[in-house]
Amino acid sequence: MQSDSFTSLALTPQFLANLTTLGYDHMTQVQAETLPSVLAGSDLIAQAKTGSGKTAAFGIGILHKLNPAWFAIQGLVLCPTRELADQVAGELRRLARGVGNVKILTLTGGVSMRPQIASLEHGAHIVVGTPGRIRDHLGRATLDLANVQTLVLDEADRMTDMGFYDEIAGIVSATPKHRQTLLFSATYPDDIRFATQGFLRDPLEVKVEGKH
Ligand code: ADP
Ligand code: MG
Repeated sequence: MQSDSFTSLALTPQFLANLTTLGYDHMTQVQAETLPSVLAGSDLIAQAKTGSGKTAAFGIGILHKLNPAWFAIQGLVLCPTRELADQVAGELRRLARGVGNVKILTLTGGVSMRPQIASLEHGAHIVVGTPGRIRDHLGRATLDLANVQTLVLDEADRMTDMGFYDEIAGIVSATPKHRQTLLFSATYPDDIRFATQGFLRDPLEVKVEGKH
């Protein structure tokens, strides 16, 4: 049985202190079952209910590897909707206080391209966005994913339901082959398994039944 203390993970004192400030006293179940492997670099498929703390499970994974001194997009999180992308970006910003100066950019539809392009020109460490808009930026060569170390497919079941498969496949192919890929979902039916298996390399599969 794993420890549920964040101190059992190889995190810096500053990172742990920030978690305490955020009121994160111990890991939720999905965090305890995934973070040791995520921090070790494994690909992952995690299935757990809404509200179980999945964002921090991948957020800590991205931030652990991130080099703030290297101004390149090192983490990419794909979400089904603008609202979810905003929520994820907010949580990543809170977690990133334990790392230093980390620039997190959201790229979603429903707003004009121009300010997003201007922000991209200034650079970012992490991009959180919806597949359609990310694909748009790739098509215009305003987004460079060649340095992505960690790719997250959040709410993969909803993204697949919404017909984002082709966009996701195009985005995945714009990231490096040696990346770490983490897939999170509330459900994990067979059609998602088949659709996404080519994106993951020997993934650990974790299924959490309870809420926490
Ligand atoms: P999910 O993506 O599984 O739906 P979230 O990542 O949005 O869940 O987390 C739900 C809520 O729980 C958020 O408000 C988040 O800040 C909080 N949370 C996550 N992990 C912890 C933790 N270890 N301790 C306390 N609160 C946490
Ligand atoms: Mg979530």
